[in-house]
Amino acid sequence: MSESFIGIDLGATRIKAGLVRDERILGTVVVNLDPADRSQSGVVARLAGVVRELGDRFLEPGQAVAGIGIGSPGAIRHAEGIIVRAPNFEQWNDFELGRMLGEATGLPAKLDNDANVITLGEAVYGAGRGYRHFLCLTLGSGLGGGLFLDGRIYRGADGMAGELGHIGVEPEGFECNCGSRGCVEQYIAAVGLRNYVRRDRLFGDGTEAALADPDLPRRLYEMAKAGHPVAGRYFHDIGYYFAMAIGTYLNLLNVEAIVIGGGMARSWDAFGPTLMSELHRRAYPVLVERTRIIMCELWEDAGILGAAALAGGRS
Ligand SMILES: [Zn+2]
Repeated sequence: MSESFIGIDLGATRIKAGLVRDERILGTVVVNLDPADRSQSGVVARLAGVVRELGDRFLEPGQAVAGIGIGSPGAIRHAEGIIVRAPNFEQWNDFELGRMLGEATGLPAKLDNDANVITLGEAVYGAGRGYRHFLCLTLGSGLGGGLFLDGRIYRGADGMAGELGHIGVEPEGFECNCGSRGCVEQYIAAVGLRNYVRRDRLFGDGTEAALADPDLPRRLYEMAKAGHPVAGRYFHDIGYYFAMAIGTYLNLLNVEAIVIGGGMARSWDAFGPTLMSELHRRAYPVLVERTRIIMCELWEDAGILGAAALAGGRS
C-alpha cells in the first residue's frame, strides 16, 4: 500500500490542505485564518485541526498519514522548518512551524517557501516532469519563482534563493515592497496592472474604486481582448518586461524550460506573443531557441501536491 501524505498551502488569510496518495488528492479542507488571531500557537492549533479533519474524513480504516508538508509565504529556513520572516505580519517572524506542528500532531512536518513548493509540485507531478533544469514562474498578485536545477530545488546559502520577481527592469521605476525600485513584478503581475491604472488614472474618477476591485486584472484582460487600446498596451508591456526578466534568467542559468503558472498566466494570449518576440532580443539566441516556454499543469493544486511531495522526501 502506498503512503498517504498531507500537503498544506498556508496563506496569510487561508489554509488549504489535502490528503494525497499516488499522485492524487483524495480530499481537501479549506479554512480561513482568523485575522484577529494570527498568533503562532493559534495557527499551529488550526493546522493540527485541519490535519485531524483530513484524516478523519478521507483516510480509510487502518490507514495512517506518513507525514506533512507545508508551503508558506515568506523567508523560510527549509532545513530547520522555520519561517524567518513573514511578508505581511510580524507574528510569524522566527516561527518554528515545522517543530511545533510536528509536536502537535505526532507526525514529521517539513516546511518550504510556497514558490518552491509549487515548483516541486510541477517537477514531480506536472509540467516540469522530465526536465533536470527549469524555472517555475507564478504570475499572480506578484511574481513568485522557484529554481529547479540539477534535479532538485535550489535554495541558496540561507534557503532564500529564487526571488525572481525582484529583478530590476527599470532603474528608477515603480517602488517595490522589497525596498528597491523597478522590480519586474511591479510591471507584469496584478500589482503591475494596478501601477499602470494608477499612473494613467485610466478610469478617471472611478480609478480608486477600480484599483480596490480584486477582479481588476480580469476586467482589463477583457477590455484588451475587446480592442481597448490602453488595456491592450498594458498586456503588451507585461510581455515586454517579462521577456526582459526571462532573458536574464536564461543567460544566467541555461535552463531547459520555463514553466508559467498563476492566475494571470491565463491571460497568456494577451501578453505571450509580445513576450516570445521580445525574448529573442533579450537573451542569447542559442539559449532562447533551446528553452521551452510552457504552461504549468497543476494550477491551483500545485501547492497541495508540491507540499505532499515535500512530505514524501522530495526536495
Ligand atoms: Zn522588489
